[in-house]
Amino acid sequence: PETISIQELANRMAERAVDVIRLLMKQGQMVKITDVIDADTAQLLAEELGHTVRRVAESDVEEGLFDTADTDEELVSRPPVVTIMGHVDHGKTSLLDAIRKANVVSGEAGGITQHIGAYQVTSPLGGKITFIDTPGHAAFTAMRARGAKVTDIVVLVVAADDGVMPQTIEAINHARAAKVPLIVAINKVDKPDAKPERVRTELLQYEVQVESLGGDTLEVEVSAKAQTNLDKLLEAITLQAEVLDLKANPNRVAEGTVIEAKLDRGRGPVATVLVQRGTLHVGDIVVAGAEFGRVRALIDDKGANVTAAGPSFPVEVLGFNSTPEAGDRLAVVENEARAREITDYRQRQKREKAAARSATIRGSLEQMMS
Ligand code: GDP
Ligand code: MG
Repeated sequence: PETISIQELANRMAERAVDVIRLLMKQGQMVKITDVIDADTAQLLAEELGHTVRRVAESDVEEGLFDTADTDEELVSRPPVVTIMGHVDHGKTSLLDAIRKANVVSGEAGGITQHIGAYQVTSPLGGKITFIDTPGHAAFTAMRARGAKVTDIVVLVVAADDGVMPQTIEAINHARAAKVPLIVAINKVDKPDAKPERVRTELLQYEVQVESLGGDTLEVEVSAKAQTNLDKLLEAITLQAEVLDLKANPNRVAEGTVIEAKLDRGRGPVATVLVQRGTLHVGDIVVAGAEFGRVRALIDDKGANVTAAGPSFPVEVLGFNSTPEAGDRLAVVENEARAREITDYRQRQKREKAAARSATIRGSLEQMMS
């Protein structure tokens, strides 16, 4: 059943908690400020204090935000979204940088200096590929925990001079749990002590069977340092993407996921958003987690202002009233009133969860002390 704490009820009515408690006492109920009462009692109290009550249920707020299905005719191919994972020091960052550098057309505005948490390159086979530029299992896990599926393909980097290590195995397990296909990039093949064959056989133990050993997992030997075979890796990604037949409807209101977010001194809250369905436009009203805003500007990974971003496109979104969190799902809503309703509700949920948590901690501390 729905409940509310005395404190929260008082806050929402802009009344003093003590007046609420007094009223309940008159009715013969002894309560403390931290006690919770059920929604019906709360409504009666509020009305008695002269307030109009509008009860908002979770379903009013959350339903219809993400669940409109698209028809087959509306679906259009979209670029794959790729995350690079692997053991520490096996070359995730180096590979992301190398791919990005190799793909920059000389003289391109902004060039390689812009870091927004994700970037796009052009595949040698044509079409775009989107890389999430925040390697690390933490980001992947955080997003999955919030039900956000952002990655279509995981590139598993394994250093040829080091072989399969604990975080390699972790990455394999993540990808498997998320049902995302792997492409193996055997890195550092420029090193004299590189043993790519050993990597292939070690992977067998974890049921990753690469093509050259008769399996169906694509593999590429690369060197981020010497920039070897980066094109081959991009080709493998495009081939894998074709198998996955990735599509989205670009002609609808946008939905996406916050990849990174920060409070920028000059620009205010800045969120890098990966658009996943629909097209995001400047001027749209968006909600992400418990925050909302009107999109003031969209900036691409080259630092250029754009007016719209379609499926699989990463963009910086300016205009949030406050900073959302990485992993928050973004949706466009019809107007600011709706945005406020949703985010007020979520802020409240957040506060109530936090209060419940600290009450539990207090409770167990008291138990420990007694
Ligand atoms: P991460 O922890 O997986 O992001 O790994 P880094 O990209 O930071 O790389 C770890 C170290 O390996 C750095 O010193 C890199 O210069 C080096 N490294 C990365 N790729 C290669 C490569 O292809 N060949 C060689 N020889 N060294 C590499
Ligand atoms: Mg790194």
